Amino acid sequence: MELTGRVIVVTGAARGIGRALAKRLASEQPEALIVADIDGTGAASLAKEVNGTSVQCDVSREADIERLVHEVESVHGRIDIFCSNAGIAVGGGPEAKDADWQRIWEVNVMSHVYIARHVLPGMLARREGYIVGTVSAAGLLNHFFAAPYGVTKAAALSFFEWLAIVHGDEGIRVSCLCPQGVKTDMLAREVSQLGIEFLTTGALEPEAVADAVVKGMGDERFLILPHPEVAEYFRRKADDYDRWLRGMRRLRTSLLSSAR
Ligand code: NAD
Repeated sequence: MELTGRVIVVTGAARGIGRALAKRLASEQPEALIVADIDGTGAASLAKEVNGTSVQCDVSREADIERLVHEVESVHGRIDIFCSNAGIAVGGGPEAKDADWQRIWEVNVMSHVYIARHVLPGMLARREGYIVGTVSAAGLLNHFFAAPYGVTKAAALSFFEWLAIVHGDEGIRVSCLCPQGVKTDMLAREVSQLGIEFLTTGALEPEAVADAVVKGMGDERFLILPHPEVAEYFRRKADDYDRWLRGMRRLRTSLLSSAR
């Protein structure tokens, strides 16, 4: 899709990947760039930098999404591109607290559902629109140390797949950004909590990820893989699931022993 002259919304834009993506999209001369974040101050300071508009918004609250979409459509008449990027990480397995499982489900999955629920009617009426979801390589390949993260990212990927299948012939473009490590606060927190450097090897700057998203949108690719090796890992998983699981077990054991 041609990006110039578009009305674009980016969530989770105050920091990290969202911030870099908003700055990159600003250089494409959009008609309007709306940057949303739960951190209203961070979003406002970015909006100044990119000559955009900021909206304080908790993406896990449907009322906040409804208000965001309504405000943008009232002022600009439409939303061409919605980057549903905000997300959080929760580590552990089944022992993680119910409240943490519930919170990550709401932020990493339901936010995309609410966004689709409210932007699709306008996009379908115009038979044009682009929804870009920030998922993660964890949506394709799971995450050794964070079941709530791997599970919610897989669910998000499945939802975006569904959107692409059901609405692709009605002019709706869908892409899923699935990076491995990206040098943001989220990754820094993960490394300090786990004491394992595993994702910092090969971690990309958020600006490189933003470039990959713009390229992927230009090509209208469903999967945007800033780390190209993820495509090969995903192929191996599909080729022989049991072999892939054995390899993942071996890798997890070796990472744990290297951390001791
Ligand atoms: P980050 O923590 O650096 O930034 C996340 C931003 O989202 C922050 O500005 C935060 O305030 C905002 N946010 C959090 N919860 C929100 C909510 N409920 N409503 C609105 N805004 C909210 O994280 P990041 O690394 O930039 O992550 C962005 C996305 O990329 C996430 O979906 C994450 O899962 C995904 N991702 C990150 C990595 C990585 O290694 N950093 C890898 C793959 C995928």
